[in-house]
Amino acid sequence: MESATIIPIILTSDKTHLSGSGSAKAWPLFITIGNISNNIRFSPGYQCAQLIALIPIIHGDYLTKHIAKMSGIETHHETEEFRHWSRSVVHAVIRDVMAPIERVMRNGVRMTCADGAERLCFPLLCEYIGDMPEQWLLTCLVQPACTKCLYRGTPDANDPRFTRRNAVNKINQDLANNHPRTDTHALEHRVRYRNDESVPLRALGYHPQIPFSINYPFGTGIIDAVGPDLLHQISKCFMDYLMKEWIWNLMKITWKGRGFSKAQLKMEFDSRFALIPGYTGLRRFEHGVLTKTHAWTVHEYKEMMKVILGALIGLCPSEGIHLVMEYLDVHRLAHYSCHTDESLAWLENAVDQFFEQLKSANGPFIKHGLVSPESETQKIHYQRHYANTVREKGALPSSSTDRTEPLHKLLKNAWRRSNKGKDSIDFVLKEHMTLAAFQSHIDNFDSGGASEDVESDDSKMPGFSLKDRVDVR
Ligand SMILES: [Zn+2]
Repeated sequence: MESATIIPIILTSDKTHLSGSGSAKAWPLFITIGNISNNIRFSPGYQCAQLIALIPIIHGDYLTKHIAKMSGIETHHETEEFRHWSRSVVHAVIRDVMAPIERVMRNGVRMTCADGAERLCFPLLCEYIGDMPEQWLLTCLVQPACTKCLYRGTPDANDPRFTRRNAVNKINQDLANNHPRTDTHALEHRVRYRNDESVPLRALGYHPQIPFSINYPFGTGIIDAVGPDLLHQISKCFMDYLMKEWIWNLMKITWKGRGFSKAQLKMEFDSRFALIPGYTGLRRFEHGVLTKTHAWTVHEYKEMMKVILGALIGLCPSEGIHLVMEYLDVHRLAHYSCHTDESLAWLENAVDQFFEQLKSANGPFIKHGLVSPESETQKIHYQRHYANTVREKGALPSSSTDRTEPLHKLLKNAWRRSNKGKDSIDFVLKEHMTLAAFQSHIDNFDSGGASEDVESDDSKMPGFSLKDRVDVR
C-alpha cells in the first residue's frame, strides 16, 4: 500500500524598511514547511525559509500625497473602492505565487522524503505568520473583527436575537470561544449576503472579497492559518495597554484624591525603577520608564516585567497589582515552548482570571471607565484563543513575528548593495534567490564528499564558514 504524508506549508510576510531613512520599504513573502525543526526554520543562513515574492506596496510618495491633500484632489486612497482594489492586488499576487502548490494540494505529489522513501505528499497551508493588520488584510475581515471567533460580528443577521446592534458585542463576547470563525463560515456568508443589501456584509465582519485560499482543499484556508502573534500582542501590550491605559491611569486617579500631582507620582514610580538593586542579568532603568522619552523595544518591556511588581507595591491599588500578576502569568505561560494539559489549564485559568480582574463589575477599571465592559481590543481579546491554538498548531512562540524578523536583514543587505534605482527591488528579490541557490550548491557539495576535514577546511575560508552560515556570500 502506498504511504502518504502531508507537508504543512508556513507562509509569513511583514513590511520592513530597507533603508535607515525609511524611504524604501519592502513587503517580503516567505515560505517554509513545518517538517523542519523549529530551531532553524527561520535562521537566515539555513535557507529553510525562501523568499517567493515581494508584495507590491501601493501608495504614492509623501510629497505627492501631501500636495494632493492640501489641494483637495486625489483623495482616492481614502475611498473604499481604492482599498478594495489594493486588497485585490495583494490577494492576486499571493494566489499567483502559490498556484503551483495549489495545483497539487488535492491530489498530492510524489516526493522522496528525508528517510529515502517515496511518498505521496500533500502540501497544505498550515500557518500564516503576520501581525494583526496583515491578518485582517489576508482574511478579508473588517477591522476589528476577531479572526478566530465571531466576536464583533453577528453570527446570523437573520436571527432576531441579533437584530439589536448594541447587543451584538455582548452576545459575541459570551460566545467568543464557542463560535469559531472558519473559512467555511466566511464563504457561506459572503455568498449568501453578497447581493442582499438588507444585510450589510460588513456587519458580519466580512469584506465581500474572496481570499486567495478559496480553493484550498480539506478545510484549510487563511482563517484557519492565521494565529496569535505574541510580539505585537501579549508582549507589546504590556506597555501600550496594561501600563499606559490601565495601571498608570488607575494610579493617577487613586493619588489625585490624596493631593499628589501627576509629576510627583511619575517621579516616585521612576525612582523605584532607578533604585532597583543591581543583580546579574537584571537590567537597571536608571532614568525610569515614564519620564524618559524613548522608543522602548519589546526586549526592554520584558526586562521591566521582571521588576514591575516591586515598583508597584504601595503605589498601585491591590486590584491593579493582581491584574499585573495575572498578565505576567499569561505572558510567561504563552511563551512556553512546549505544553502539557496541565500547563494549558494554567494558561486558560490565567487568561480567565485576567479578564475577570479587568472587567469585574465592582472593580476599579470598570468603575473609573478605564475599560468597556462590552468590548475589548482585538490584541487583548486574542488571549482567549491562545490555549486552543496551542492544541491545534503547537507552541505559540514559533508563530510570533519576532521569529521572522532576522530574515529582513538579508533584504536590507541586498538593498545596500543595490544602486537604489527603480530596478532595485527586482535586484533584492533576485539576489536573495541567487544566494539561496548558491548556499544549496555549497550544501550539496559538502554532503557529496563530506568529511570532518572538508568542513574544517571550509570553516577556515572567510565567507564560506559552515558554522557561521549567516555570513555566506
Ligand atoms: Zn476571538
